[in-house]
Amino acid sequence: MADPVLDLRGLSKSFGALKATDDVSLTLYKGEIHALIGPNGAGKSTLMGLISGKTAPDAGQVMLNGADITTLSVARRARAGLGRSFQVSSLIPDYSALRNVMLALQARQGHSYRFLRPVNHDAPLRDGARALLARVGLAPRASVEAAMLSHGERRLLEIAVALALAPKCFLLDEPMAGLGAEGTARLVTFLRALKQEAPILLIEHDMDAVFQLADRISVLVYGRIIATGSAAEIRANPQVRAVYLGE
Ligand code: ADP
Ligand code: MG
Repeated sequence: MADPVLDLRGLSKSFGALKATDDVSLTLYKGEIHALIGPNGAGKSTLMGLISGKTAPDAGQVMLNGADITTLSVARRARAGLGRSFQVSSLIPDYSALRNVMLALQARQGHSYRFLRPVNHDAPLRDGARALLARVGLAPRASVEAAMLSHGERRLLEIAVALALAPKCFLLDEPMAGLGAEGTARLVTFLRALKQEAPILLIEHDMDAVFQLADRISVLVYGRIIATGSAAEIRANPQVRAVYLGE
């Protein structure tokens, strides 16, 4: 197979005596959605933190397109192409949807988020932002403040913001959380298209969505990956059924 876009090698992180992630290795290839599932406390969020750079591992490496990014800051990893989404904190609540995306585009051009140029009069930036909003289906909501958008609309805006940084891959931590059936269905359709642009590492509790979307699934239990395979393989795996699906 081709080289992985994201390659996690033996990542370990302990909190005191607790091994939250224990020698976790996982690959994400071009064009795929790789879902990470596991019961509460399995270490999923800890692993996301190790990948995004929020948390430093005790051992192991995070490789992005062959480059070791293990010691880079969160901001430098983002610039290196690690796209995260569904973090409401990445939006500026009293700015319009359009302005939030314009800021992200500006950040991609190397400007700090904290020292903004007066972006409203920059036509190419505005056109680029409008195109991204159209892609996620938010064109009609361009002038609405982020805080006034619905939960599902904010999720889509976060994707537009992440897309503005032209990521090499996406990390999504429970994107379906709090979405109704219709919002989830919309997001499933959108993520299927999105994976062609950049592969997605997806942590998700909604098993229906995972089994619909994932090309491969890894199962994390007590900090260790106990199985990786297709949806059919994971469904049929007796160990997975016993420890995770409660059989
Ligand atoms: P998941 O996201 O799969 O529910 P987490 O990664 O949040 O699991 O947590 C894995 C384990 O590590 C849990 O037992 C949790 O209590 C513990 N843990 C997570 N973060 C910390 C922390 N900052 N300090 C101490 N223990 C933590
Ligand atoms: Mg979690």
